[in-house]
Amino acid sequence: MSIKPYWQNFINNEWVDGDAGRISLEDPATGEFLAEMACAGTADVDRAVAAARECRDSGELQSMRPVERGRLVREMGSYLLANFEEISLVHCLDSGKPLWEARLEVTNAARYFEYYGNQAETLEGKSIPLGGNYTDFTVHEPYGVSAQVIPWNFPLEIAARSIACAITTANSCVVKTAELDPLSSSYFGHAALSAGLPPGAVNIIAGYGQEAGAALASHPEINHLVFTGSVETGSKVAASAAANIVPSVLELGGKSAAIICKDADLDKVLSSVRNGIFFNSGQVCSAMSRAVVHRDRQQEFVERAAELASSISVGPGIERTESGLNMGAMISQKQRDRAYSLCAQAQKSGARLVSGGNRLNLPGWFLQPTILDQVSPNDEIAQTEVFGPVLTVIEYSDDDEAIEIANSTRYGLVGGIFTEDLNRAMKAASRMKAGQVFINEWFAGGVETPFGGYGKSGYGREKGREALFNYVQTKNVAIALK
Ligand code: NAD
Repeated sequence: MSIKPYWQNFINNEWVDGDAGRISLEDPATGEFLAEMACAGTADVDRAVAAARECRDSGELQSMRPVERGRLVREMGSYLLANFEEISLVHCLDSGKPLWEARLEVTNAARYFEYYGNQAETLEGKSIPLGGNYTDFTVHEPYGVSAQVIPWNFPLEIAARSIACAITTANSCVVKTAELDPLSSSYFGHAALSAGLPPGAVNIIAGYGQEAGAALASHPEINHLVFTGSVETGSKVAASAAANIVPSVLELGGKSAAIICKDADLDKVLSSVRNGIFFNSGQVCSAMSRAVVHRDRQQEFVERAAELASSISVGPGIERTESGLNMGAMISQKQRDRAYSLCAQAQKSGARLVSGGNRLNLPGWFLQPTILDQVSPNDEIAQTEVFGPVLTVIEYSDDDEAIEIANSTRYGLVGGIFTEDLNRAMKAASRMKAGQVFINEWFAGGVETPFGGYGKSGYGREKGREALFNYVQTKNVAIALK
């Protein structure tokens, strides 16, 4: 399967080469050369920010009637759907994920444009009573240039949610895609052109983190920053943004726990394990990476989870066209080997391997779906984000202990509980330190539900209506009457 050999960046509505050369990309399913991507350096970042600034200063986006702006946003989503198969194929080859997962991601990306585009004309201010001598009202105004730094695990969905919010609220944006799988994000440029967005409204640049990413995050001309990625990088970009007094949203990592109670319906649990830790080969910030299981159900759970893991067919994403018990490659050899080493180290520290744990004897970056049992809450494997298809099983005896374990990492992205007892579920939901809590179904929710972290998982929210308010600032206008 071959695709276009060279892809360009998108600045000011033009396709351009990179001032830092090209990035050579490999197919994670084979380890072989896939294509080259233009690589942005600091000069390209300057150009993209200048184009976004000019667009913003022209007032074109902001002076539009909101319903018109909303239509442009929705048009971007329509473009993705109209080119659905082509984008899905490119994304599958670039990221290593199964073709059906790549298709789902294109659908979800398009959904963000629909969801936010529909809300463009609903961002109303309010009137504040100050007595008979005054009239007072608030308006929501865009920040200006929104800088967005994207990770490689869901490049389309994550960029789509930020671009859609930015344009809906009349910000222009510069998106720095991830250097490991930037190809599919090029279609946002095509979508912006197809929708008729003004030059500079959407700029898409690929480049390395320490160069293009750092230059963008610390750029004096940006007004807003959305970063999705690791805690370590998030901390650096937040410091850069703070130096310029730029508000930021940080969506960082997780080590999320599902509490599986004594009365849990294990069919529901297993279906959530399949999606929770093996979707996208576990390279999901909100993955169900820890199963905290009541001791009376431990053995049964582990047996069934091991059976599930060993029934998953692992191999090239391009051959995995239908949703089912299958998994693709991890993004890179480095990520795959890191996950493998963490599993090997966990076994040395006393964890019991009940399924998987090995690399596949195939070219490409595959790791078997893995279950590790008899893990203690403070073990490295229970505290470190593996970002791979690895489920860590921890036993508990009572509700307090389960909550304590669930809350015992530095993260707080999501959490879940499986029980038929609604009182127990609601108490757990209120005690969990997590931005989202799933009851009886991991990943319950959608583009409509706010998403973001407690603790080191970040701050601010993406998704849902709440996210829109991260892209606007409030202006109060007070009028003294005669
Ligand atoms: P990463 O932090 O290495 O990279 C993320 C992005 O930051 C990339 O585009 C990279 O080029 C850029 N970057 C790297 N160094 C930079 C620097 N010094 N300055 C500016 N930008 C820089 O993370 P990753 O490996 O791409 O992604 C995996 C991590 O992302 C995991 O921890 C995962 O949990 C997290 N993640 C979080 C969410 C969420 O919504 N909370 C979603 C997806 C991934």
